[in-house]
Amino acid sequence: MYAEVLTEYSAKSIDKEFTYLIPSNLQNRLKVGMKVIVPFGKTTINGFVVNIKDNTDTQNLKEIIDIQNEDFILNEELLSLGKYIKENTLCSLITAYQCMLPSSMKVKTIKSNYQKYHEYLELVSKENTLDYINNYPRRTKQLELLNRLLKSEIILKNEYNSEIINKLIDLNIIKIKKENIYRINIDKKEESALTLTSDQTIAVNEVKKSLNNHNIFLLHGITGSGKTEVYMNLIEEVISKGKEVIMLVPEITLTNQIVERFYKRFSSKVAIFHSSLSEGEKYDEYHKILNGDVKIVVGTRSAIFVPFTNIGLIILDEEQSTNYKQDNNPRYHARDIAIQRGIYHNCPVLLGSATPSLESMARALKGVYKLLTLSKRIGKATLPKISIVNMQDEYRKGNMIISDLLDSKIKDRLSKKEQVIIYLNRRGFNTIITCKSCGYTFKCPHCDITLTYHKSSNHLRCHYCGYTLVNTEVCPICHEKALTSYGLGTEKLEEELKERYQANVIRMDIDTTSRKGSSKSLIESIEQGKVDIIVGTQMISKGFDFPNVTLVGVINADESLNIPDFRSGERTFELLSQTAGRAGRKELPGEVIMQSFNPDNKTLLYVQNNDYKSLFNYEMNIRKILKYPPYYYLTILRITSKDYNEASNEVSKAHKYLNNNLKDVIILGPTTASMFKINNIYRFQIILKYKDYSQIKKSLLELDNIYKTNNKVNLEIDNNPTRI
Ligand code: ADP
Ligand code: ZN
Repeated sequence: MYAEVLTEYSAKSIDKEFTYLIPSNLQNRLKVGMKVIVPFGKTTINGFVVNIKDNTDTQNLKEIIDIQNEDFILNEELLSLGKYIKENTLCSLITAYQCMLPSSMKVKTIKSNYQKYHEYLELVSKENTLDYINNYPRRTKQLELLNRLLKSEIILKNEYNSEIINKLIDLNIIKIKKENIYRINIDKKEESALTLTSDQTIAVNEVKKSLNNHNIFLLHGITGSGKTEVYMNLIEEVISKGKEVIMLVPEITLTNQIVERFYKRFSSKVAIFHSSLSEGEKYDEYHKILNGDVKIVVGTRSAIFVPFTNIGLIILDEEQSTNYKQDNNPRYHARDIAIQRGIYHNCPVLLGSATPSLESMARALKGVYKLLTLSKRIGKATLPKISIVNMQDEYRKGNMIISDLLDSKIKDRLSKKEQVIIYLNRRGFNTIITCKSCGYTFKCPHCDITLTYHKSSNHLRCHYCGYTLVNTEVCPICHEKALTSYGLGTEKLEEELKERYQANVIRMDIDTTSRKGSSKSLIESIEQGKVDIIVGTQMISKGFDFPNVTLVGVINADESLNIPDFRSGERTFELLSQTAGRAGRKELPGEVIMQSFNPDNKTLLYVQNNDYKSLFNYEMNIRKILKYPPYYYLTILRITSKDYNEASNEVSKAHKYLNNNLKDVIILGPTTASMFKINNIYRFQIILKYKDYSQIKKSLLELDNIYKTNNKVNLEIDNNPTRI
């Protein structure tokens, strides 16, 4: 018998399948989907078995050395899901499989001893022990140990020094028993469910009716309308039937609060999955799933691939989030994967959001998805009142950061001991540093972007490639001491608020939350009331549920409107509505102040009136006229290279090729990409607009094949990009 083994080949992750002989000792055990170790030239590598067959034409085959990990197998569903990803994102098959697994289980990883044990001591036999005690009455330390074991006490290996233990092991008196342990252990008492409101009940019942069918539901529920309770209620029903649930959330910081709620409700039935777990923790959580020890997984994007085999429900909370799309190879969208798995398991997929993506809402209105609505907050809670402040007027008064209105509201909340969120989607201290004497602006030498000043580390930093420069007072060009800085970042805002209000201010952005456990402790300090004001970037805009937050201030509501992307209106609406939704979620009423230089902007007015419907109609009309999604599909082809001329020449060639080969497809470009240079790589792009993927697929595959072997330029193909 022979096995075809798929391995990763070259830096571009090209698929390579090799045929090996299956040695007789593995013939009964080896299955398709297993990870095996095989000889390769003078070394050994590993790969997935993708086929087992009786015959081969190839001569002189080598034998498979061993199975790497017998309790893990890429099952039939995941094997075919990989093929779906390859088809739809045009990645290699091995790349698709690799992305489904935590690093410790990927091909190429040889280290596999992530398993953690408790090591206990155990007697080999009672009689021998008693003999030994009689024969050596003076070995007091050993006798103490043995007597404890005779009394059936549980003794960990590390309670005694290894000399004593090893001697007893050598004499075959005791042995070591290993017991698997998990690094994350949840031992909470399960709290009972809240009584659902009538709106929640209607939504829940709709889904419950079709738990044994594949349907896609879009739950459109305003912020604080109790979507999470709806999810939990459904999950309870699904796991009571012995099935499993995957629940995706868009950001790691968000998982903290939701996971706590899930632990309280479902205790040790929950595994978590996100990138800030350690490799060992990920290994363990993965094995909780393989071992059938959990029924629910809560996690970020890649958790959609967990190897549950009896899924009864898949939930994507905040389905509009762009984090669900991976922005490197394979460029998959978790929503698409959820739907594929929903079809396979014949179970519902529930998409939830206060601000659904236009694509999903359009599908719901066409009846492709079933629309469920929660239009009120729970109990007496109402949506916050939103005011828009004209910052042009404030500038004239000399208020560069905080308007008079926001100032008075902050003071009011501080005096009442209520909490305030101030949102600014820019990190660092200043975002632009220039020389007043010669006009020089500090830019990243590797990227097409200005450097940001970070005061806490006293560095200028590139937010794309991480390049840093120690802060200086003199201009590197004219050597004058004339540097000045503009642009407000969260770090400066934090400092300003601290000085102004003498309050307890914390900041939540990538810089303060990237350390493991840091966002969790920040959240706890908010919950315990140790914090008056929370300054944060978009990571605080979603999901947070703090009953004492009654004021949200948005420093620069226009910021995301100015991004040149056809989705900027939709995105701004989403961000601001979500951020506003943090205020007044329980008994205390909430209020929102949005500062803007364009106070009459339509999108901002829709946010103010919580008018998703008008936003939807307005944006859909533009999309229709300009032929953008959801009316057309988009694909971006990006040609990148360290060599400007190569990239520029190749993008013209690719453009010509597409022009000659595509019919009824709108081809835009070639142009430079919106970030023209990142990390010394020049980037050009071509945009395709089309009605059906089959119109372009063949040509894309051909182009992709041409560039696979080109070492000077790279072709990235991004189907359904989240930004252009
Ligand atoms: P969403 O996910 O839509 O933002 P949540 O599920 O977080 O809303 O609910 C908002 C708040 O209302 C939470 O504090 C939650 O505990 C509470 N809540 C939700 N449903 C109920 C209910 N049926 N009865 C009482 N409180 C509820
Ligand atoms: Zn850079």
